[in-house]
Amino acid sequence: MKRSLVFATGNQHKLEEVQGLLGKDFALSCLKDVGITEEIPETALTLHENALQKAQYVYNKCHCACFADDTGLEIEALNGQPGVFSARYAGPQKDSNDNMQLVLKNLQGQTNRNAQFRTVIAYINEQGQPFLFEGKVEGTIIETPRGTAGFGYDPIFVPNGYDETFAQLPLETKNAMSHRGRAIQEWIKFLWNE
Ligand code: IMP
Repeated sequence: MKRSLVFATGNQHKLEEVQGLLGKDFALSCLKDVGITEEIPETALTLHENALQKAQYVYNKCHCACFADDTGLEIEALNGQPGVFSARYAGPQKDSNDNMQLVLKNLQGQTNRNAQFRTVIAYINEQGQPFLFEGKVEGTIIETPRGTAGFGYDPIFVPNGYDETFAQLPLETKNAMSHRGRAIQEWIKFLWNE
């Protein structure tokens, strides 16, 4: 029988990406499927706390197994920014293009282009116990966006060992090595032993 999990996201793109990673043994629902239409507060200052805050919010409403993820792009020359503020780096409109342009502007003339994506997954089981998992991928920020796949900062991030950006690589290639992919692999190992 499939295991049901609620994913604390309204982002269809992420839902498909994670469903692909978890495989057919898991049936994912999104927030709307469990009647949560309001925006979930994300007021913490770390990825761990934010992920937990979102998962706890969903658990309090549905009392079912659920999880939330929080991701940040951490750029070395910007002291780890945008980090936990990645979604709203250029303002509350949460526009990916504005965010990328601000990163490129802030890195103008900068030779250190090292960056990493880091994802934290907070999983709460049916009994209400929380567990945290983390994954990261290192790479560099290029000067001009390339590619149309993916979302967020994908067009300006080239993972180490590749020439293409995340927005140019096939989704399966991105999933196999991405921050979220790695965090989810850790989590899946746990789920199978639970
Ligand atoms: P979230 O915590 O997953 O919502 O991620 C916060 C922000 O980080 C998003 O709004 C995106 O801008 C960015 N982000 C998260 N995951 C990715 C990714 O896989 N590629 C590019 N950008 C991402």
